Amino acid sequence: MRPVIGITCGLTNIDRNAYGLRKEYIYAIEDAGGIPVIIPIFRDSSLLDDAISFIDGLLLSGGGDIDPSFYNEERQPTLRTVNIERDRIEIELVQRALDNQVPILGICRGIQVLNVAGGGTLYQDIPSFFDDPLEHFQKEPEDQGTHIIHISENSKLIEIMKQKTITVNSFHHQAVKDVANNFIVTAISDDGVVEAVESVTHPFAIGVQFHPERMWEKVEPIRSIFVSFVDAARMYGQRGCK
Ligand code: MN
Repeated sequence: MRPVIGITCGLTNIDRNAYGLRKEYIYAIEDAGGIPVIIPIFRDSSLLDDAISFIDGLLLSGGGDIDPSFYNEERQPTLRTVNIERDRIEIELVQRALDNQVPILGICRGIQVLNVAGGGTLYQDIPSFFDDPLEHFQKEPEDQGTHIIHISENSKLIEIMKQKTITVNSFHHQAVKDVANNFIVTAISDDGVVEAVESVTHPFAIGVQFHPERMWEKVEPIRSIFVSFVDAARMYGQRGCK
């Protein structure tokens, strides 16, 4: 059986009573060899032990801001929409996935959830905290790269993408500030914004600030992120860890 990839979701913009997840996440996991399943925002977090036990990989999807109380900061005026129920479920899922060595891929908001769950902090708004930052919320089409990132040597990400620089898309106004315990920064943009992190103790816990699910069909190194993630999930499932 293909590895089961649990994908977190948010609420739709139109109906806040309905769960929402963009289709590209599903298609990217299908293409990479996994079975995508959507993990809803449970009301009862005691269900999460069971939820973790039936997935082989955890994909943290994009979305709104994380409530800063989760990293012990006050809300700044530039904070945008938050969903505390989603924050809590995702952070608890990540903590279980980290403890159980379940492979994790965090995308956009997902890198931020991964970092906060691991004990890190965020910049609540890039333009408010950086002098002369790049445009990280692009107007260009979503599958188009608009700024370069520099990938660190000796990182899993460079092993996966096999290149030191790549142009990525960008749809974020927040970014990683203090990196989580046992994590390192593995990519930055020219203005110093963190664009990727990974765990140095977990077999596959990687976060990227860009949106690979909107670029993988055109850019093979970006497709490799999903393929490597699903491969890691397959190995996890076969190790009898579940
Ligand atoms: Mn960016």
